[in-house]
Amino acid sequence: MAVTAAMFAAAAGYRGRFAPSPTGPLHMGSLVTALASWLDARAHGGQWLVRIEDIDMPRCVRGADEDILQTLARLGMTPDEPPVWQSRREAHYAEALRRLDAAGQLYPCGCSRKEIADSLVHVRERHQTLGYPGTCRHGLNGKLPRAWRVRVPDGPAATICFDDRWQGRQCQDLETELGDFVLRRADGLWAYQLAVVVDDGLQGITHIVRGADLLDSTPRQIHLQHLLGLPTPSYLHVPVVVNEIGEKLSKQSGAQAIDTGAPLEALRQAGRHLGLANNEGNVQDWLARATEEWRQRMAAA
Ligand code: GLU
Repeated sequence: MAVTAAMFAAAAGYRGRFAPSPTGPLHMGSLVTALASWLDARAHGGQWLVRIEDIDMPRCVRGADEDILQTLARLGMTPDEPPVWQSRREAHYAEALRRLDAAGQLYPCGCSRKEIADSLVHVRERHQTLGYPGTCRHGLNGKLPRAWRVRVPDGPAATICFDDRWQGRQCQDLETELGDFVLRRADGLWAYQLAVVVDDGLQGITHIVRGADLLDSTPRQIHLQHLLGLPTPSYLHVPVVVNEIGEKLSKQSGAQAIDTGAPLEALRQAGRHLGLANNEGNVQDWLARATEEWRQRMAAA
């Protein structure tokens, strides 16, 4: 995967994206993320793309991708380029993995979840790393390779910081808080962390707007961008929507599908969550006013 001139040309303007996993219909949690990314792109006069993140096939629901795209369209949000599906982009992930391997950044790991959990109890007692303790860094010791892990830096270089446009400055020590992490899973599936970095890079994404549940994935993604020679986009993580008992709204926590019969009401509710005023008018008016409000707020921030 070469960092091409075309990629930089694309990155010269604003390019944002919404990257839903098609595990079910759009619900209030995913709508808030979609709306925030759409508003930010429009407020910057930029482009807004949709990428269907369907690499975790066992979790995907047939037809959920089209359902999400139709719901977005009913709410006045249509992408500026045809959507892409991660399941059709595996060659890019394989190429990135090959490059990382050639650069000596990867190693096969033979540890089972149980072995890692057991060793974590042990290292926690010694107040060392909270993440993968690097058992297979220096060889498999006769174990069969299961997953592929990428090395995280040692010492001060392990601390990755970024300035989030909503949440402020964030730092994570990849070595002590996380350890070497998986890019290709034991079941053969590509890890989200790898696919998202490769795609954001190849699609020339300059601004990422998504839910705050992904805040602690961002330092891993920045580390991979460094290793792959990709630019680091700007980040904005919006607060996640929670249900009555404080759980993140998701299909698992029983989130209701957006009612496309009442698009304005859905937009208003998502807008309230983002702190936007309760605008009147039709869907197009609402989106235009919300874009203006978002622009003013971001200019003031
Ligand atoms: N596909 C991820 C999700 O639905 C979002 C990935 C991202 O925005 O980076 O949670």
